[in-house]
Amino acid sequence: MREEIAKYLKTRTELEGGLYLDGEIENGFKRILITLEEYGRQISGCMKCPLGKTRKNFVFGKGDLKSRIVFIGEAPGRKEDDSGLPFVGSAGKLLDVLLDSVGLRREDVFIGNILKCKPPGNRRPKKSEIDSCKDFLKRQLEIIKPRIIAPMGNSALQYFQSYYGFEERVIGDVHGNFYEIDTSWGSVKLVPLYHPAAAIYRRNLLDILEKDIKKLVDL
Ligand code: URA
Repeated sequence: MREEIAKYLKTRTELEGGLYLDGEIENGFKRILITLEEYGRQISGCMKCPLGKTRKNFVFGKGDLKSRIVFIGEAPGRKEDDSGLPFVGSAGKLLDVLLDSVGLRREDVFIGNILKCKPPGNRRPKKSEIDSCKDFLKRQLEIIKPRIIAPMGNSALQYFQSYYGFEERVIGDVHGNFYEIDTSWGSVKLVPLYHPAAAIYRRNLLDILEKDIKKLVDL
């Protein structure tokens, strides 16, 4: 009976995406399967840093829970804070166009941020805020188990560099390159991209971003 339950839970995780929070595979009764949605509900009341008091909405991220590709930005802006959804402002519109150019829709990928709450005045996230938030993204990725992660912009890039012990480089030096990272769900390709907001008024960056996204999809 236990074996059957363990097998059932394993199949459910494979089909729906999910993460076992504790227990061993043999002990099907002890294990707790958590899905991405459930995880979002659990953490959406977070008050770990002062941004919890000023946010309108906790922006968990959105997309296909079984997506092989995840795009990670910096932090919600005003429109994201108002709506609770990631990348719905002008940078998000450009991201939609770029995805469309390679035959993807935002529903096919997962889009999230390093910070889940809007920093005041759209300033860059503070280190203390990133530290408070960083395990949320780690767990989201463990649940989704993507094959490709695209950090967009320097803040997102730094997050992965520090988490996976890479040398610190700026996005201008590493965009469009592939890095293999070892994760608990296997080997994943990290493909740093320029942030779409940076490409809105800079045609040369837009061309580069288009090429890099094309490379990423060709992977
Ligand atoms: N910029 C980001 O980094 N994230 C968003 O969700 C919106 C704009």
